[in-house]
Amino acid sequence: MGRVRQARKTTARRSGDWQEFQLIDWIRQCTQNQAIRREIHIGDDASSYRASGTMNELVTCDAMIEDVHWSWDWCDPRSLGYKIVAVNLSDIAAMGGIPKRAHLVLALPWQQKKAVVQPMLRSLIKTLNRHQVVLAGGDTVFSSGPMMITLTLQGEVAPQEMLLRSQAKEGDLLFVTGDLGAAAAGLDLLKQYKKVPSHYTVLTKKLLAPIPRVEAGRLLAHSGKVHAMLDLSDGLAGDVRHLAKASQVGIRLYTEYIPIALATRVAARHLKKDPLFYALCGGEDYELLFTASPKYTSEIFRLVQDKAKLSCHIIGQVVNKRQGIYQILPNGSRAPLPAGWQHPA
Ligand code: ADP
Ligand code: MG
Repeated sequence: MGRVRQARKTTARRSGDWQEFQLIDWIRQCTQNQAIRREIHIGDDASSYRASGTMNELVTCDAMIEDVHWSWDWCDPRSLGYKIVAVNLSDIAAMGGIPKRAHLVLALPWQQKKAVVQPMLRSLIKTLNRHQVVLAGGDTVFSSGPMMITLTLQGEVAPQEMLLRSQAKEGDLLFVTGDLGAAAAGLDLLKQYKKVPSHYTVLTKKLLAPIPRVEAGRLLAHSGKVHAMLDLSDGLAGDVRHLAKASQVGIRLYTEYIPIALATRVAARHLKKDPLFYALCGGEDYELLFTASPKYTSEIFRLVQDKAKLSCHIIGQVVNKRQGIYQILPNGSRAPLPAGWQHPA
């Protein structure tokens, strides 16, 4: 999971001389000869397996570590329990899937108190229940290290409805649900204030309690109108690159069309940050990014806005790979896209 790492000074996306995505690419190369037709392996939001019957099984897995992905200074146990479920649901949503079963690995410090673990687990189970997901197993271990929580989520999707990152077509429009950058602004606020002013709650909520777009994901997948989809966890700039690489295409992004909420803009000004930086490089938005032919634009707006009750924006276009990945600035000039979130040197 490439999420906003709260402690950006830590090794969350880097270990020794590896960067996260270099390491994943290397693992993927090592597993190349395992490829079996009809199975989707490393590289998408979830893996997929056609066991028998009519459905594809989906599996995704996300881990969160204390003082890397959350700090008890600003994240309470209930939020943590909710969030580990939400980020996994978001990956199943990105494949167009229906979540079904979960396995939970809890790695707890020896001294961890029940008063923390119980509300966290109650909230986790409540959130699973709300999505009709069964907690089917897991493992519990204790150590002298920080707390770590890992959830594996299984889901299913009809093979013809499954949406991958790799199917974007030249000429497609690039759509995004909701607005971007709010979670990154919320994180900066939480790090800056002991008590964040109440008018910024909408931003801290986006970080602590993102709403996985399961319904919109299903509607889009079922419509048959979408070519490629992924969820936004690494910041738009990073995730657009994932889409382009998987689909072997280029992307033209229109900077002025990127949806950024007023609260995010106000907070950015307050924090002396660029709201566009939050949207492009922040991460943890958990919105859906997808591509479809321009002829289906009104159908897509009908599904996302009218049925799923979410805002939806066209932010760019899929172009030939030779054109690369770039943004058109409000003055009409062309500029390279900044990197997604990167570890400071
Ligand atoms: P997401 O943000 O959608 O959760 P990630 O960026 O974490 O996805 O991972 C990208 C892809 O790499 C996914 O397909 C994931 O399953 C795979 N992946 C990540 N880490 C590993 C690993 N250690 N071993 C095998 N596959 C991995
Ligand atoms: Mg994802």
